[in-house]
Amino acid sequence: MAETAEVKVGVYCAADNEVASAIDLEALEKVALTEMKAALYRNHPNLSSAESVEQIRRDIGEHGLSHVVILDRSARAFPGLFEFGPEVMVDLVPLRELVIWTHDANDEDTQMLAEDYLRMYVARTKNLKRPEPQELAVERRVLVIGGGVSGMRSALDIAGAGVPVTLVEKTPALGGWAAKFTRSFPTKPPYDQLQNGDMVRELAERVNGDSAIDVLLDTRVTEINGQPGEFEVKLENGGAPQQLRAGSIVQATGWRPYNPERLGELGYGKKNVVTNVQLEQMFANGSVLKADGTAPKSIAFIQCAGSRDKEHLPYCSGVCCRASLKHAMQLREMYPGINVYVLYKDIRSPAQYELFYQKAQDDPGFFFTKGEVQRVDEKDGVLAIDLDETLLDEPITVEAEMLVLATGIVPTTSVEDGVFAPGGGEENKPDTRIRDEREEGEVELELLPSGKKVAAGAEKGAKILNLTYRLGTDLPTLKYGFPDSHFICFPYETRRTGIFAAGCVRAPMDQAQAMMDANGASLKAVQALEMTAHGQTLHPRSRDLSYPDFFLQRCTQCKRCTEDCPFGALDEDEKGTPLPNLARCRRCGTCMGACPERIVNFQNFNVPMGNSMIKAVEVPEELEEKPRLIAFVCENDALPALEIAARRRMKFNPWVRIVPVRCLGSVNTVWLTNCLDAGFDGIMLLGCKHGDNYQCHFVRGSELAEYRMENVQEKLQQMQLEQERVQVSAVAIDEWASLPELFDDYYEQIEEIGPNPFKDF
Ligand code: SF4
Ligand code: SF4
Repeated sequence: MAETAEVKVGVYCAADNEVASAIDLEALEKVALTEMKAALYRNHPNLSSAESVEQIRRDIGEHGLSHVVILDRSARAFPGLFEFGPEVMVDLVPLRELVIWTHDANDEDTQMLAEDYLRMYVARTKNLKRPEPQELAVERRVLVIGGGVSGMRSALDIAGAGVPVTLVEKTPALGGWAAKFTRSFPTKPPYDQLQNGDMVRELAERVNGDSAIDVLLDTRVTEINGQPGEFEVKLENGGAPQQLRAGSIVQATGWRPYNPERLGELGYGKKNVVTNVQLEQMFANGSVLKADGTAPKSIAFIQCAGSRDKEHLPYCSGVCCRASLKHAMQLREMYPGINVYVLYKDIRSPAQYELFYQKAQDDPGFFFTKGEVQRVDEKDGVLAIDLDETLLDEPITVEAEMLVLATGIVPTTSVEDGVFAPGGGEENKPDTRIRDEREEGEVELELLPSGKKVAAGAEKGAKILNLTYRLGTDLPTLKYGFPDSHFICFPYETRRTGIFAAGCVRAPMDQAQAMMDANGASLKAVQALEMTAHGQTLHPRSRDLSYPDFFLQRCTQCKRCTEDCPFGALDEDEKGTPLPNLARCRRCGTCMGACPERIVNFQNFNVPMGNSMIKAVEVPEELEEKPRLIAFVCENDALPALEIAARRRMKFNPWVRIVPVRCLGSVNTVWLTNCLDAGFDGIMLLGCKHGDNYQCHFVRGSELAEYRMENVQEKLQQMQLEQERVQVSAVAIDEWASLPELFDDYYEQIEEIGPNPFKDF
């Protein structure tokens, strides 16, 4: 984006006592007007006052300012304050955070730092424009997939918000698993009585009676094309194809039980050993009987059967303990003389459900004991369960006529049938597959149920959505097969924009939680319609109007952008030219960071902007012994962490210049080579953690940045520079206190290897 003649920058600097007593404002003014050719420079003792905002507004009119640079606090401190209409680009320099609060007052290096930030931001703003709002045609209908508790609740919520819904259920009836259960946990005081299954039936009746909800039973999704606002959905209903358009999607496809065939060591396969789900079926059939057709006089439950076990499901499903308490109570009602043994690692019955647990404990027919099951034998119709009992601290054997394995919940998005690699889900990691695929240089094809072939690659998927996205047919999943996009910050969001997850497909939960989960996902689905219609992105750059602009005349079809986009926003044609689906885009800039031709840019964030900031820094000559380090800092966690450290008045290394970025994935390697050419002695990239417990707000930007660093290392070698010249570090927001030390430690490393030899060229 070239600088144009119309660019007129006004610079406004906070000039209260705190700032004016720490730096030389006259010198700053000189840099702005003479060096950076700003049209106007003003100091103000209270920049955020109404009077000051009015002054800026007047200046814009009188001087024809197109860009305003404000040196005071970070943008986070003044949300919405400096708004001067669509024609004026406003940029805020966090002068207090990066200079005044974190460096010594009246120090030569502090002054140089302030002047550098002024240069960097004025240079940057000249390359930025306010994005134009784009109104998109949006189909005001939400597709809900899955007719269980969360799907039905979602449909009712969305319809209640005035948006029509199509609810698709693959079986002949609404209700899902919950409809198969004869009784449920208590959901109201005194929280100690079992409830009947009325809630599910009533929910289904309300859904069927709502004219804004089209219920399609016996129906599967065979293909989804398009993007938020205009998903084209193909369905199959009893062999008959059907089509509809939807603006957003809620996937509430629920769970399946963990495969008990893998639990032979806990007795599965032996006579009179069943799972909790099989026991539910017996209740539904009206009686619980042994294989010989007689009622059991004793029954044992093994809790966490295949759960909280790294060889099976490493997580807790959260409901199995209460399910067993419920089952045991049902059995005591059915057969009052029966003895029930509950063998547990821990009983997890949280909140008011403690009262439910106490009710069970008060029953003399219950026997609870804690320990690890060692083996299960069956002889003469009796099951003997050996247990390393931890309350008595000795091995015991429990004998019972029937055994129930309390198995856990596997999301329907899991492709692994409930089996996870020890250590957690290696084979489920899409990123690894992308990388392997790129090395092989070929694109894998997937066959959709509709017969269409699509490029797959990243995610094999569970063949529920059958997306025609380049990156695969279904929602990419996190560890253990759950499809959240960001488990900390954005519940319900998945890695496919406009598609939200609700209920047990998102995390194990009970019916009450599933209803609340549906509330959240439904709101998101409606919000997606509204924001898409106005061209706004969803989290984390909520309301951003910018879209990546691809200058395709110079595209070499290298496919880096299409492969790296974490949200599947980019398909490609047969030659590999990107085909953007912009409503899928979350504006992370990963495509911009990926493109070797540097032809992907945003109006308010682009490659020239970064280059101009790098060039704007005054890099002293080697003999002056004032090294210069530059840090590209992710605005999601690392930058706020830096601001927290600044508010705590921690001291920052004076040699470091900060460049905020949308995500480390948006850092184009040309910025790094330009830094080295410009004489920077060291380059830091501060982004989010990746791996299983990732916190990257754009899923994989920080990981991609590390991957791309391999190319940078090659470049360093060619330039005969040390590897340490570039360092990637992960920073979580709560690690703010470690940031000053991180800078200092890196500086020490650079000091050891000496200055960048290109400094004086
Ligand atoms: S900005 Fe991010 S989400 Fe949008 S196309 Fe580029 S990589 Fe994909
Ligand atoms: S990364 Fe750039 S050159 Fe490569 S396919 Fe995408 S737009 Fe084209």
